[in-house]
Amino acid sequence: MMRKLLRGGMVVSMDPAVGDLGQGDVLIEDGRIAAVATTLDAAGTADAEVVDATGKIVMPGFVDTHRHTWQTAFRGIGADWTFDQYGVAMHGTLRPHYQPEDVYLGNLLGRIEALASGVTTMLDWFHCSDRPENADAALQALREAPGHSVFCYCAGMAGEPDIAPEITRVRSQLPDDGMVLGLRGPQLTTMDTTAADVALARELGLRVSVHVHGATGWPSGHRPIAEMRDRGLLDDRTTFVHGNGISDDQVAMMADAGCSVTVSPDVELKMGFGWPETGRMLAAGIRPSLSIDDCPSAGGDMFSTMRTAFAVQRGLDGGLTARDFVEFATVDGARTCGLDARTGSITVGKDADLILLNAEDPSVFPVGNPVGTIVAAGHPGLVDSVFVAGRAVKRDGRLLGVDLPALRARLLESRERIATAAGIAVDGSWTPPAR
Ligand SMILES: [Zn+2]
Repeated sequence: MMRKLLRGGMVVSMDPAVGDLGQGDVLIEDGRIAAVATTLDAAGTADAEVVDATGKIVMPGFVDTHRHTWQTAFRGIGADWTFDQYGVAMHGTLRPHYQPEDVYLGNLLGRIEALASGVTTMLDWFHCSDRPENADAALQALREAPGHSVFCYCAGMAGEPDIAPEITRVRSQLPDDGMVLGLRGPQLTTMDTTAADVALARELGLRVSVHVHGATGWPSGHRPIAEMRDRGLLDDRTTFVHGNGISDDQVAMMADAGCSVTVSPDVELKMGFGWPETGRMLAAGIRPSLSIDDCPSAGGDMFSTMRTAFAVQRGLDGGLTARDFVEFATVDGARTCGLDARTGSITVGKDADLILLNAEDPSVFPVGNPVGTIVAAGHPGLVDSVFVAGRAVKRDGRLLGVDLPALRARLLESRERIATAAGIAVDGSWTPPAR
């Protein structure tokens, strides 16, 4: 039996039955959390490999519930883009030039970056789906990166009339909890197509995830959630991405059906979707989760994501606390992915998806209130160690078993190839036209 003992850390469990421990031990056995207590007795842990967690915060790894990872090579170039410009740039201009190798590298480096900043579980919302080989390349990267990844596959972006054969093909390669059907949804296609896609998901036993937000300018009177509800398309395996600007009665329909919501605060604010809806969703009875969305226009770490959403909500109504946002980024994220029995908190029996944050870093020292520090001052530089199902993937601030210089060189080549083919500059001088 493989045993590890994380000894003497400040434990932020996100499990109400465990609570926070000013100093505590976590025992891992065969990849799962076997015990957590202020002090675990020496006899019960004698043969365990000891990881000294003194001076560290021990917490569950983050869950990012929506990221278009394939776009990683174009980090930062869209910081000033509007939503229209993003659509023209990423989908209209760059996506058609992506080859499978480009998808592979974007997904691999993106997933590795997420791991390095403490995201142990990530839903890859994949819509670079112009050919089946792109999906295969995306999956290969997710398999190679040592984290929990859920492949949210939105096939048919290039306009294929029938996605069922392709979705069925990929479905057969993945475990039940490893795939979600990404709906083109009412914003990218018709309600009839949405209904057919949901029927396919149900037939294949898949959860669904669908973008709905107020930035697209719905024709007046168009009520996407109400229409989906009326056609029986809402259930507790449905996740809405964003949800900004949806009327109160439609939010209530989402809550009634048990739907989940993922909020991407940075992208929503910068691209003009409206205020992030964490507080509004909670008030309606939906516990939101958090997500990065896209790295061309937002950073990839959950610390800044939590902080943006936290600051906005405090500014709007003074509501919610730092702890709410750590819950959104951990346990509520796990629930959004249907993985709450497996991950999201330091609970005996769950996978040991754990991160250690350096509480002695000058940017946060001294740490008296770990939860407050994580949200108000946390950053990826604090992530000392990352364990996925008990396996160390980062220790002492360094990723293990990853040849970053080689991967960086390949990603730069990929970016150069795509940018040249598309005829665009990557130095910030390219201003994509709005539609
Ligand atoms: Zn998105």
